Amino acid sequence: MYTDLNQKVAVITGGSRGIGRAIAHRYAQEHMRLVINYHDDPQGAHDAVADIQANGGQAVAVQADISTEEGVQALLDAAIENFGGLDVWVNNAGMEIQKPTHEVSLADWNKVLDVNLTGVFMGAKAALNYWLSKHQTGNIINMSSVHQQIPWPTFASYATAKGGVKLFTETIAMEYAPQQIRVNAIAPGAINTPINAEKFADPKQYALTQSMIPMEKIGDPEDVADAAAWLASDQAKYVTGTTLFVDGGMTLYANFQGGRG
Ligand code: NAD
Repeated sequence: MYTDLNQKVAVITGGSRGIGRAIAHRYAQEHMRLVINYHDDPQGAHDAVADIQANGGQAVAVQADISTEEGVQALLDAAIENFGGLDVWVNNAGMEIQKPTHEVSLADWNKVLDVNLTGVFMGAKAALNYWLSKHQTGNIINMSSVHQQIPWPTFASYATAKGGVKLFTETIAMEYAPQQIRVNAIAPGAINTPINAEKFADPKQYALTQSMIPMEKIGDPEDVADAAAWLASDQAKYVTGTTLFVDGGMTLYANFQGGRG
């Protein structure tokens, strides 16, 4: 438990399932008050809110497309209207489209960049403007990926967006450090969530992914949520502009294990 998080207000984009939902659950355990954004699965968001309320917590579910300015504004407005402010903004929403790069349509390229990169910019911008107008500090957490570092053929738009998230995080961390606004990224490796459901349903693919991880196991959304709680808390009060890898060692080049190579 991080007692300083008690009653803090957080917006979590894409919070209805997967990693976002685990972060909502973890933040609720810290007694934070939450705006849980969803895009296309109201059931997941309403179940998340019901779970939290049943345990005495405070949360609202808000439908919004975070690749639009109106969508992002609606989330900020919900935080202010329901809870009177904002302390933490988690840019978690993301999606991917797999295709050989020479076959990717401009529309698909733009969609992936709009959600994974421009959505992060717009979320950060909304939060920064709010904190600057109130002369208060704040905390932004951007969900990146090991693919901010590892190239990923047939997922060029996704890897490009996450690479952009890395440098965007570092740049605004430096820009707003004098205001004591912290900005960090989390780079998950392979995590068991709906984004990977189809892939991991195939035992061969599951085993292949596992073999790329030195710790030899796929991660859980809760592993990422624990990192998001720590980064939001005062335990990380001197941490800004960094990417926290939560990947079981995936970025350590597993092929070299045991002295191979
Ligand atoms: P997921 O598909 O379970 O969840 C993604 C969430 O983003 C969903 O709630 C979805 O509705 C939301 N979303 C998508 N487009 C949106 C939009 N336009 N507006 C609002 N919400 C939108 O996937 P996940 O694994 O939980 O992914 C969460 C984040 O973690 C993503 O940014 C993803 O890139 C990143 N990530 C996941 C993994 C992994 O292995 N699962 C690895 C690295 C990074």
